[in-house]
Amino acid sequence: PLDVVTFGEAMALFMADETGPLDEVKHFTRELAGAETNVAIGLARLGLNAGWASKVGEDAFGTYIMKRLAEEKVDVEHVFKDSRYPTGFQLKEKVLSGDPFVQSFRKGSAASYMNEEDFRPDYFSRAAHLHMTGIPLAVSSHTRSFAEKAQRYMKTLGKSITFDPNLRPALWASEEEMIETVNKMAVQADYVLPGLAEGKVLTGLSSPEEIGAFYLNQGVKAVVIKLGEDGAYYKTFKEEGVVSPFPVEAVVDTVGAGDGFAVGLISGLLENLSLHDAVLRGNAIGALAVQSQGDNDGYPDRHALFDYMNQTI
Ligand code: ATP
Repeated sequence: PLDVVTFGEAMALFMADETGPLDEVKHFTRELAGAETNVAIGLARLGLNAGWASKVGEDAFGTYIMKRLAEEKVDVEHVFKDSRYPTGFQLKEKVLSGDPFVQSFRKGSAASYMNEEDFRPDYFSRAAHLHMTGIPLAVSSHTRSFAEKAQRYMKTLGKSITFDPNLRPALWASEEEMIETVNKMAVQADYVLPGLAEGKVLTGLSSPEEIGAFYLNQGVKAVVIKLGEDGAYYKTFKEEGVVSPFPVEAVVDTVGAGDGFAVGLISGLLENLSLHDAVLRGNAIGALAVQSQGDNDGYPDRHALFDYMNQTI
């Protein structure tokens, strides 16, 4: 059985080794990118059984992705190779502070052709929990149909569902369509996890309290809003609060903090921690993630997580 199943696109990621515009950078280090693979990797490092469903091309990047996930012990039984299309990749700037610029080469990728006919109910039914993001809703009509099917199916089985909007405005034809489509999926989830800026875009509201109420009133069980260096806010009909961040010595790269946060939250919920304590664990992994350059290389194993949390509380 799987603890968590997720799905989406993974890409090879070339991280610049030196600062400066991407067209001038000469040296890159290759890593793996993808919001959902980040979450699957983070969960697997904590010892959970995590599965990831996708498609990759029959090329070097596709082989690389499969090898990396095997190393991380992520289950890839629902990953199909498709020789007709390539595996996508990204280039990421190196920055000394703030969010780095990322250029993606993903249009027409093998992963963008995964559709509802690829959905394997027997595989998804093995998982206790579904984690999904808004990215497959944006990538293509194929991946959107897969996402809708996966969510409908897991809801029918009564599985718990987390939804991280992970807005990618550049992949959408219009902001209205993005807001409408993402919210439609979000309100079907049990837990919605936007960043504060995303929550504002999606609801037109400005405070975490209002954004939380917006989703709770549409049937969501809990809303958790990531506040970056200010930690996170959570709200249910019964309780709400802000959970303080963990101290960070130097922010190296912010990409992957939100996914790391999801790892902490989901693993905590599956281990029956209170919502507050699951959010606290999310904050810890988010803080570890911003202190390393790769998207997922800062994620801890259990030992490192508990060490970090004990040492800093
Ligand atoms: P991403 O850039 O990965 O999409 P996000 O916007 O979804 O990120 P953030 O709010 O940037 O999410 O970060 C997620 C979590 O990581 C925060 O809720 C917080 O717990 C932690 N975190 C992020 N930045 C910092 C920081 N500078 N100091 C301490 N904790 C941080």
